[in-house]
Amino acid sequence: MLFTKKVRANGSSGEHEGGCDADVRVGEGGLRGSPEYSGVGCRVSGVGCGVSEIYASNITPRPDSRQPTAKSNKEHRMKNASCRAGILVFMIAWTPSLFAWGQTGHQIVATVASRGLSPKVAKEVSVLLNGQTLADVAPLPDQWRKTDTYESGWHYVNIPKSDTAYDPARDCPPQQSEVGNDCAVAAIEHYKTVLADTTQSNATRGQALTFIVHFIGDIHQPLHNANNNDEGGNEVPVTWFGAATHTYSGDSNPVAWNLHAVWDDAIIEQTGMSVDAYATYLLKRPRPANATKGTTVDWTNAAYRLAKTNSYVIPSATPAPLGKKYYARNLPVVNKQLLLAGLRLRSVIESALGGKHQVIHKAQTGVSVPHRLSR
Ligand SMILES: [Zn+2]
Repeated sequence: MLFTKKVRANGSSGEHEGGCDADVRVGEGGLRGSPEYSGVGCRVSGVGCGVSEIYASNITPRPDSRQPTAKSNKEHRMKNASCRAGILVFMIAWTPSLFAWGQTGHQIVATVASRGLSPKVAKEVSVLLNGQTLADVAPLPDQWRKTDTYESGWHYVNIPKSDTAYDPARDCPPQQSEVGNDCAVAAIEHYKTVLADTTQSNATRGQALTFIVHFIGDIHQPLHNANNNDEGGNEVPVTWFGAATHTYSGDSNPVAWNLHAVWDDAIIEQTGMSVDAYATYLLKRPRPANATKGTTVDWTNAAYRLAKTNSYVIPSATPAPLGKKYYARNLPVVNKQLLLAGLRLRSVIESALGGKHQVIHKAQTGVSVPHRLSR
């Protein structure tokens, strides 16, 4: 949902080559490991990057799984910022099914945030995102991490269920990357700085904004903050209203239900509401007191406590049968977390882009701003 699969990185990659990949096919094929990867056969040229950087796991497994160095990470990031910005429109225009799983919650959070932005900041957001909306880009980091596997840890915080709160030394270890540490808290703080830095290019800041939209959603999903040696509930088999499996839109292969997926997708999907209708519903609800107060760590700790008081409270049978009772108990929690995430995201964006901050508009300069390192 928000929230997305918390599957740990074990894929290949880390090595990225320059130049354009010719004859890259995207579109109709299954993104989730389907061996038959075919599609509309779009050739993407002239964007300065290979689309296969994003879809490599579906095209050709890369044989080299070495972890990138800090230097190669930064170089790669510079290229990726422009690559990702450049092909964003293409991706959304041609491959709607690619984002059909785990995207709803992220888009609800983004829509809640976008509806209350000041006109000035809303305009700057549009410029940084090449005309796309926050909801358009919200799911993208879950695609990026399929190939840039060192980003996977930025989507969650591994606080042991047996503990009481976030401990940065334990839960956010150092990482050789532009973020510098391997957890969602560090990633959010890093990209807030990048977003507010007017010396950065629009592409780099747009990518930072995309990360922030996604990661603030992630940390409001309780099971993105807690771990019980079960991959945040990914390894806890459950049934959902009697069903042992489900399918994701665009993929006919059945997937077994697990506890994490219930919180990512099932509870939200059970409401039957569209993204826009859900956002409207949430914005009509009473606003939680002090909604935008606190730090990223405070928000993480609050969601972590919900994992213990709600998410992990399930029947002991295997698979645990979850249905009407579990849904009724936890839907209010999901709704509150979605609303809080949206309100907080809006506040973070306003802080980064409001006031004296200015976006350099291409229309003013006539040329793209050169990309720079994020730090
Ligand atoms: Zn995520």
